[in-house]
Amino acid sequence: MNDAHARILALRDQLNLYNQQYYVADAPTVPDAEYDRLMRELVALEQAHPDSFDPDSPSQKVGGEPLAAFPPVRHALPMLSLDNVFSEEEFAAFEKRIMDRLGREQPLTFCCEPKLDGLAVSLVYEQGRLVQAATRGDGATGEGITENVRTIKAVPLRLRGGGWPARLEVRGEVYMPRAGFEAMNQQARETGGKVFANPRNAAAGSLRQLDSRVTARRPLAFYCYGVGLVEGGELGERHYDILQTLEQWGLPVCPEVRRVSGGEGCLAYYHDILARRDRLPYEIDGVVYKVDDLALREQLGFVARAPRWATAHKFPAQEQLTRLLNVEFQV
Ligand code: NAD
Repeated sequence: MNDAHARILALRDQLNLYNQQYYVADAPTVPDAEYDRLMRELVALEQAHPDSFDPDSPSQKVGGEPLAAFPPVRHALPMLSLDNVFSEEEFAAFEKRIMDRLGREQPLTFCCEPKLDGLAVSLVYEQGRLVQAATRGDGATGEGITENVRTIKAVPLRLRGGGWPARLEVRGEVYMPRAGFEAMNQQARETGGKVFANPRNAAAGSLRQLDSRVTARRPLAFYCYGVGLVEGGELGERHYDILQTLEQWGLPVCPEVRRVSGGEGCLAYYHDILARRDRLPYEIDGVVYKVDDLALREQLGFVARAPRWATAHKFPAQEQLTRLLNVEFQV
């Protein structure tokens, strides 16, 4: 085995361990920036050595194994991850790639959204009533957490108005606003309870509780950012318009969502949100750009673990490895 193959195997082992700690135990031991650095190294090596391809590599997979303590929920449409860009150059390459694929010259319309640092959930409404909630899990199968989600005040149990599809799957992020996170950790420090590393892990740990009364006491919130399978009704042809419709039905949509024209519009959005990042009442680790026109999305399709029609533009890392040594980061 040569050096590159040995390194690939070592990276896969390391990333599998970090995935288990992060997704299953809600207890990461390294900052996201370190995880992202190792993942990028793995992806670059796998691209340079296609003979090492393995469908079980962490570079091909979404999330982690669902916990057996919860009933499994098979997603009607897979819940994928997002590809990342870390610089304006990488963003320009993403934009060019999709323009080339679509054979387009004029700017595309994008929907820009904060990348909320929480936990993806799928909510199924039948005849306007919430009947099922699940985590993303491994993308194909999630954990059934309906009772827990029902305790989150921002999630409507019944949709407002009318005209909803007979069956509507809404997707969004359960997150913990900063203020609630600080207060909860402060209380945990005083009472010897569990102190969470960051709002993302606090949200995930709070939602995946066996006793929904525990979840009910946690300061969780929710924003929706898309739909999954829709049956018995139409929602429109553009993502931004769909979000507006969901909002009219009482589903909360982040007020920072904007529709923009072309790459210039995306980067202006990125800089505006980055400048205000610390003043937002919730943590975000970047912004997400999504092609707005659903027909174009259809043409672009997906790769193994993410759609081609969207990317996350990550912010520069704030966490430092040394913070892991602080009690603040222990879980
Ligand atoms: P991701 O967080 O990079 O992107 C996909 C997720 O973004 C979605 O599932 C959804 O939950 C979320 N999201 C937030 N706002 C959204 C919006 N507006 N629209 C669509 N989705 C939105 O992907 P991931 O697969 O969940 O996690 C990978 C990342 O998690 C890594 O890049 C790393 O930062 C972190 N991670 C860290 C460790 C660790 O040990 N520290 C381990 C595993 C993963």
